[in-house]
Amino acid sequence: MKRKILTTISILLILAVAAVMTAACGSGGSKSEGSVVKEMKSAAGEVARKVKDEKRNADYRAKKNSAASSSGSGSNSSGAASGEASQEELAKMEEEMPLRKDFRDEFDHGDKSAEYQKYIVLHDTEGSGDADTVISGWVNDGRYIASHFIVNKDGTVVQCVPMDRIAHHAGFGDTGHNEQYGVSDESRDDKRGTSPIGSDMADYGMNSYSVGIEMVHIGGEEYPEAQLEAVDRLIAYIDAYYGNESDIIDHKMWRTGNSDTSQEFAGYLENYRDHRTHD
Ligand SMILES: [Zn+2]
Repeated sequence: MKRKILTTISILLILAVAAVMTAACGSGGSKSEGSVVKEMKSAAGEVARKVKDEKRNADYRAKKNSAASSSGSGSNSSGAASGEASQEELAKMEEEMPLRKDFRDEFDHGDKSAEYQKYIVLHDTEGSGDADTVISGWVNDGRYIASHFIVNKDGTVVQCVPMDRIAHHAGFGDTGHNEQYGVSDESRDDKRGTSPIGSDMADYGMNSYSVGIEMVHIGGEEYPEAQLEAVDRLIAYIDAYYGNESDIIDHKMWRTGNSDTSQEFAGYLENYRDHRTHD
């Protein structure tokens, strides 16, 4: 596993240097020194991000595999390289959350198979209605908006879109964010029910690469411990489903000026991004 990471790092570094050389030379010398430095920095940032992702996922797979071999249960049939949980493991996690499935076809906007999964996007419902009320609201709204999961204040979870399908939860983001977040392919999304909101918010790629989680919450309130613990379990479940750890962001990171998640969540978000639990 270590050799694989080192190889990946070397390849990425070579590619980054090559990209910068091409950028610097291809411009026929017309580029300012400042812009070349900027490109080098951004290429280096991209490499650092990929190396971090690769290491995190290798660690995760190693952790999963050692847990599977010490418990004596073969994790799945697809081999040791994959950290994906078995159907039985997932079913057990669903029962423990607890998670109820209520899939709605009208919220399904296209294919998002595992190779496209990159982010978990956290949201607030900004209302006091429970998951069932939220789902009815989305149905009545007629714009086919939905998140994959809704977490109630009491910690119960309802899923209304399968994880390998696109749901419209993140909407339009800042122009340039498709590229910044590496989510540029919007072609799998049917975009049914969407209407553009302006040239500075033109990017719609996040939905095609993410799983959305809504927490029932209104700004100004504390998040109940039961709800935060349910989000911990749900993130562990999503990680287990894919066999790797997606980056965790909140809605306002994708769209500047968006209000969710609320102020009260800031510390928890930092913890989730750092070590995948709220505390
Ligand atoms: Zn949101």
